[in-house]
Amino acid sequence: MTSVRTRFAPSPTGDLHLGNLRVAVFNYLFARHHGGAFVVRVEDTDWVRNREGSLEGILDDLRWAGLEWDEGPDRPGPFGPYRQSERGELHRAAALRLLAEGYVYRCFCVEEEREGEDLPGDGSPFDPAAGPGCPGGCRGLPPEEGARRAEAGAPAALRFRVPDGVVRFDDEIRGEISFHGNDVGDFVILRSDGRSTYNFAVVVDDVAMEITHVIRGAGHLSNTPKHALLFDALGSPRPRFAHLPMVLGADRRKLSKREGAAGVGKLQAQGYHPDAVVNYLSLLGWSPGDDREILSRKELIQEMTLERVGASDTVFDPDKLRWVSEQHIQRMTVTELAEAVTPHLPPEAPAMTREELERAVEAVRTRIAVFSDIGPALRFLHPDPQALAAAGEEVRREGAEGVRILQGVMETLSALEEWEAGPINAAIRSCGKTLGARGPALFHPLRLALTAEASGPELAGILAAVGKEEALRRFRLALDH
Ligand code: GLU
Repeated sequence: MTSVRTRFAPSPTGDLHLGNLRVAVFNYLFARHHGGAFVVRVEDTDWVRNREGSLEGILDDLRWAGLEWDEGPDRPGPFGPYRQSERGELHRAAALRLLAEGYVYRCFCVEEEREGEDLPGDGSPFDPAAGPGCPGGCRGLPPEEGARRAEAGAPAALRFRVPDGVVRFDDEIRGEISFHGNDVGDFVILRSDGRSTYNFAVVVDDVAMEITHVIRGAGHLSNTPKHALLFDALGSPRPRFAHLPMVLGADRRKLSKREGAAGVGKLQAQGYHPDAVVNYLSLLGWSPGDDREILSRKELIQEMTLERVGASDTVFDPDKLRWVSEQHIQRMTVTELAEAVTPHLPPEAPAMTREELERAVEAVRTRIAVFSDIGPALRFLHPDPQALAAAGEEVRREGAEGVRILQGVMETLSALEEWEAGPINAAIRSCGKTLGARGPALFHPLRLALTAEASGPELAGILAAVGKEEALRRFRLALDH
């Protein structure tokens, strides 16, 4: 078998959103699984909907997600250029060939062109009430008559003659799918101004780029019978089609912007781990065949096959995405994590050496699900002085016991030489034994005096991160009013 080639074909009409990124994820993982090529092809023929800067943003988002492509708009390969707008000649030549071979006919119903066009994802079929072909009956026009009118200057589109009967194709996920030819309807492949329609450009390019697997969202299913007919007419073997299940919002309707249809850039800004995003998106319709949910990039590549993609709709769950991100973060080394959170440190965080930052990150790592959680998590490094004073007051108000503990622990810790979480923890516990206190009775006054908070990450880690001098200063502050 020829080696696997998949493509991700974004239309640069806006930001890359999660649903699109998921399609890219499946194409990427599948190609890598087979040691094949992953191609990015820009479908920029829709002049009206194209947006300035959109392509750059999409490519940046793919890079952020680590979905590196082998061939694409900025990466020449044997079958480029990879922008459809630069491939017009090829599309026209293929259309004229189909005209010569009788697969398409000239259509003079110029105003009707858009009707048969089916923009990406638009499932509306050609109006069957108009009968086969265009409303003007151009299908029945003898080819010589069509050629004569075109030569005389009448603008003509080229329309594909959809055969009567059933159009069938195989889908790797859904099995055999069939559409009735009448529901597909004769469709325009070349507009009267010589530009290819979306559906035709897709197929000509898939043929030219030797794409072996077309993996895309189920929203494209209604376009696929047209594509199948076009592959046949062009005399090229059909690629394997795989239509991924829909991703819906919690209300089981189309994913809303608020829920996740917003740009991928937003996740990046919030500090989601890119591997986690790829991992989570891979689970929307697929599973590794066991109960693993957290998979590294390498494992995903190893496991990704189309056999384990289901056909039922999936639901986007932002809480689960956050959980998956958390799981990936827990697997990072402290050095990696310190590096990753650095751009998310708030301006009010104190300046830290690399070593200090790693210590602080270690103390709070269980509280970080996305990198931007670092700000609130490290709040204990720079507590509000007034809150600290009030917390000290609270310790004193709560009674002599807390004050006695605070005093005892302070003495023990000031004698401690090795200021690391392990020894600090041991010292506090042994001090607690001497004082006859443990659990919350022991830790609550200490935490309050140190952070002005009633709960938080493990105390010894915080003490280590705060530093001996500062920790003892805060204890003292709580004791002497
Ligand atoms: N350009 C299409 C889109 O933006 C993808 C077409 C395809 O994958 O065949 O959804």
